[in-house]
Amino acid sequence: MKVFKFGGASVKDPEGVRNIAKIIQLYQDDGLVVVVSAMGKTTNALEEVVQLYYHRAEGYAEKLESIRQYHYSIMEELFPMCQHLVYEEVEHVFYQLKLICQTKPEADYNLIYDRIVSYGEILSTRIVSAYLSEIGIENTWLDARKLIKTDQNYRFAKVNWSFTEILLKQAIRNAKGRYVIQGFIGSDDNYHSTTLGREGSDYTAAIAAYCLGAESVTIWKDVPGVLNGDPKVFENTVLLRKISFTEAIELAYYGASVIHPKTIQPLKQKNIPLMVKSFARPEAEGTEIQNGSSLEPMVPCFIRKTNQAVLNVSTTDLAFIVEEHLSQIYATFHRYGIRVNLTQNTATSSTFVINHDPVNVPMLLEDLKMHFTISYRPEATLFTVRHYSEKLMDEFLRDKHPIISQSTPVIYQIVVF
Ligand code: ASP
Ligand code: MG
Repeated sequence: MKVFKFGGASVKDPEGVRNIAKIIQLYQDDGLVVVVSAMGKTTNALEEVVQLYYHRAEGYAEKLESIRQYHYSIMEELFPMCQHLVYEEVEHVFYQLKLICQTKPEADYNLIYDRIVSYGEILSTRIVSAYLSEIGIENTWLDARKLIKTDQNYRFAKVNWSFTEILLKQAIRNAKGRYVIQGFIGSDDNYHSTTLGREGSDYTAAIAAYCLGAESVTIWKDVPGVLNGDPKVFENTVLLRKISFTEAIELAYYGASVIHPKTIQPLKQKNIPLMVKSFARPEAEGTEIQNGSSLEPMVPCFIRKTNQAVLNVSTTDLAFIVEEHLSQIYATFHRYGIRVNLTQNTATSSTFVINHDPVNVPMLLEDLKMHFTISYRPEATLFTVRHYSEKLMDEFLRDKHPIISQSTPVIYQIVVF
């Protein structure tokens, strides 16, 4: 059995859905679990619905309607017969979304978020599965909310591995079958929908592969594989043919957007190779992430992380910042699910480079203000260079004015505004 994952960009239009079918047809002899993300920017759009609904603001109905129109425009091309069953399935999803939005929002924002946002993947998989059937690729649509079991940590749910493994093995019995399942979503013990963190569909692919002992995972992308930098940001990027699991974990940790950070660990544990291939050129080799040499070719890797903020925390009475303060500050980060990407300390203050989350950061700041003096500046960017050389960094830093820089023998990091 192989696991394939198709992200939002690969199903953003009818052409994309047709292309998935073409790729699947290239793998006639394999059993496949096909993990699919929400179409295009649907998750972002659903996030907006959540915001509007939660704050009882105007406009959620229009937003929902535009998401509906978008999916209909794709379906109308793929299924010209308007009585196709898929229309009913999709309509049912929007009916459920409308029902949710008509009730009074519960207090727990993250619970509501997961309840609503998870429908993006239900929609995309309904459409992909129906299209595959339509053109004669027999397949089974699976509901990840019944199979991927998690705790109640909404928006960042942790997987219950043993339970999930039992359920997936029960649902996926035919080693030659084709199964279509949603990425990113699951459910807790009460069958409330949960999500695994933004861009979590790669992780779902890894979960499925781990639980089923799959032969490999392939992530199909709009790039030829993993490059040594995002080509939209950096010039002269090269394709990395091979990356070790350990190197991939490091790259993902620092924000290389190609693979979701949590994806690699389960695969490494069971030694399941991860391929990253181009959905536009499926025959091309791509990148293989496996248990082997760290990088092939051995080149510096560049990572840019945007939407960062620089938070400075100091004691109100100019006392030294000591372990006691730091543990209190980190506990507060943990409480609001804030990820710290870089730190720097002086005697009386600590600087943290964090992800700027528009919902949780304001709450974090309120909380910290009760005990510390703080300053906060968003719109920062964190650059990380792995396997750098002094010469390379001279060049790299020429047009940048870092307000923080830090290095180890392997990694060079800077923060700029
Ligand atoms: N649709 C989800 C997101 O956009 C999950 C994913 O794309 O992997 O975050
Ligand atoms: Mg997505």
